[in-house]
Formats: sequence, structure tokens, C-alpha cells
Amino acid sequence: MHEWSVADAVIRTVVNWASENHVTQVKKVKVGIPSFSFLDVEILKEAFDTMKGDSPLDKAELEVVFKDPIFKCRNCGLTFSLKDVSDQLESLKGEFGEEYPLHLMPALAPSFLKCPRCGSHDIVAETQDITIDGIEVEESGTAQTVG
Ligand SMILES: [Zn+2]
Repeated sequence: MHEWSVADAVIRTVVNWASENHVTQVKKVKVGIPSFSFLDVEILKEAFDTMKGDSPLDKAELEVVFKDPIFKCRNCGLTFSLKDVSDQLESLKGEFGEEYPLHLMPALAPSFLKCPRCGSHDIVAETQDITIDGIEVEESGTAQTVG
């Protein structure tokens, strides 16, 4: 059911934004979702389409972009993403397969990853919010994207 409250929050935010900016027709809403949030995109889109109803969003399409988690080393302060530790991930996948534990639980990062700069295991997963990364509107025949 989490998908429905996310869709509701996105719709409310965009409807408020549209009324403040005198936008009458939104074409597309792009949302960034942390890849570890376990949201089902199909359910989210269904919820969005069901709830957007009679609003400037009634013809809007929802586009979902997954954001990779960000980690921070508490020893040296380095911030890094999964891309920066791809070699470590490869060996994890070799050991555990595609459903490697970190894939499911970012909080387990300190057990499985070390800082690519100093090698410390004292790392934390930074919390990421769901963000609205772009809104495409129809304004006198031209589409424009605002972020
Ligand atoms: Zn470090």
C-alpha cells in the first residue's frame, strides 16, 4: 500500500505546484525513487493513474527513475555510490549470486563493503528521499520541462 501514499504525495505536490504556477495541463511527472525502497513501479503508476483524476494531471504520465544509494565513509568522509565499489559488488555477486544481501538491504553495507579510499568498514547508507525531478507541461502548444 506504500505505493498509494507515494502517488498521493506526488500528485498533491504537483497539483500545488501547478496552481502556484498557473499551469493547466501537466504532461509528464518524473520522480526519482531510491532503488532500495522496494516500490513496485507498476502499482505506483496504477495508483497515480487512478488518483490523478480531475486535476491538471488528468493526462499526465508518470516516469520513474531509480536512484542508486549513496554511502558515506565515517572514517575519511568520502561519499561514494555503488559504481565506485563495482569491483567489490562483483565479488559479492560471485559469492552470493544476483540476490546478494546488499542488493536487498543497504543498511548491511558496512558488513559487505569497504571504503574505496581508506578501506574502512565504518560506512553508512545515506537516506534518500523520493524526489520530483522534472515536470513537463503543455503551455500554448509547446512542451517545457521544469525541474
Ligand atoms: Zn574512507
